[in-house]
Amino acid sequence: MRCEVLAVGTELLLGQVVDTNSAWIGEQLAAAGVDCLLQVKVGDNLGRIVRALRDALARADAVVCCGGLGPTPDDITREAIAEVMGVGLETRPELVEVIRGIYAARARSMPESNLRQAQVPAGAEVIPQTRGTAPGLVCPLGDRVIYAVPGVPHEMREMVTRAVLPHLAARAGQRATIRSRTLRTWGIGESALAELVAPRLAALEPAGNPTIAFLASGIEGIKVRITARGAGPDPEYAADALLAAEEAEVRGLLGEAVFGVDDQTMEAAVGVLLAGSERTLAVAESLTGGLIGARLTAVAGASGWFRGGLVSYASDLKRDLLGVVEGPVVSAEAATAMAEGAARLLAADVGLAVTGVAGPTEQDGQPVGTVFVGLAGLGPTSSRRLQLAGGRETIRQLTVVHAGDLLRRALLHAAGSGAGGGGGGGAG
Ligand code: ATP
Ligand code: MG
Repeated sequence: MRCEVLAVGTELLLGQVVDTNSAWIGEQLAAAGVDCLLQVKVGDNLGRIVRALRDALARADAVVCCGGLGPTPDDITREAIAEVMGVGLETRPELVEVIRGIYAARARSMPESNLRQAQVPAGAEVIPQTRGTAPGLVCPLGDRVIYAVPGVPHEMREMVTRAVLPHLAARAGQRATIRSRTLRTWGIGESALAELVAPRLAALEPAGNPTIAFLASGIEGIKVRITARGAGPDPEYAADALLAAEEAEVRGLLGEAVFGVDDQTMEAAVGVLLAGSERTLAVAESLTGGLIGARLTAVAGASGWFRGGLVSYASDLKRDLLGVVEGPVVSAEAATAMAEGAARLLAADVGLAVTGVAGPTEQDGQPVGTVFVGLAGLGPTSSRRLQLAGGRETIRQLTVVHAGDLLRRALLHAAGSGAGGGGGGGAG
């Protein structure tokens, strides 16, 4: 079953209204296992709506058309569908009654123009209205079908759920579903990632189920979305089984770069590893000014593993509180001393620290975007130098994720070597 979506309304083309209807309908069609091949927007113009409908029907078994069913002269979806069907419009007396009834119930007089909504292409089946005044339509064209639903989002959703999806499912004859799972990665560039996954893409190509797509999402990392279609007696189970098998394949190729699934954040992944190894964490932040602590504490259950953080912004605080020695405060030495100092002062197993140049001007002879991340308490104290691109805010946000990823990988390795509890050296 192949379906397309046609959103009608000049306001959509002008950008005055964002076409959220198509996005929602696409989501519902996927969940119902209906392939949605194309979504098109068209203005309130009879000739162009007719052409768009004909084009869609040439490719697809079904078209869901939203908008333009109201009473005003620019609502011409009914006329366009009638033309495509090659029939006239006929007034349905029962619809006249319903529309009059809605106005009577609201104690308002009804503009005669409202009766336009009682007109239906001959041969069309009406989807009764429960919310607005515009009824929906099921319009058969040979073995194809056009569904027309109102443009107002809550009316559209109610009608698609109540009538369109069940009708499509009945036509398809077989229950199916399309499900997705997103693996979230950090630390591999998009093209390198694509190269690593290329063998799977090639292997999946002939069957086309499941499929894999990449989405670069800035500070959210690069997402690898696996989509599977399930059919048979238990479509959800079938789709989930395909997803699980493919997830294992892709994880095998990407290894540690995968930090989470779907909505799981970097800090949530860090929290799971800290909790699992019964370690506690303290942070010392300079250029991020508390952003790391804020994101860690946004994770539910953070009190189980997060001790606290120091925003040591001024150089003398880094020295007096954290034990950073004289010299540049944007340096590997400063980062490691801050990490050890945070763990010691806040009595945590693990210390994480960041110091760097967020810009706009260089500092300590280091260019904008230079960041040092220090890590103490997981094996020997270490530091990593990063060179980040972007403006001040981007550099700060990227630092948070990079630091989280460094900690996550160190925890993974520490877990591998069987550490737990005390966390060991460095915090003197
Ligand atoms: P009504 O009977 O209420 O007039 P209608 O079918 O004529 O319904 P439209 O006139 O096309 O619908 O749109 C009504 C309103 O619904 C628009 O002003 C807009 O706010 C919203 N709307 C229409 N289409 C969309 C869309 N594709 N996505 C999101 N909102 C939409
Ligand atoms: Mg309207």
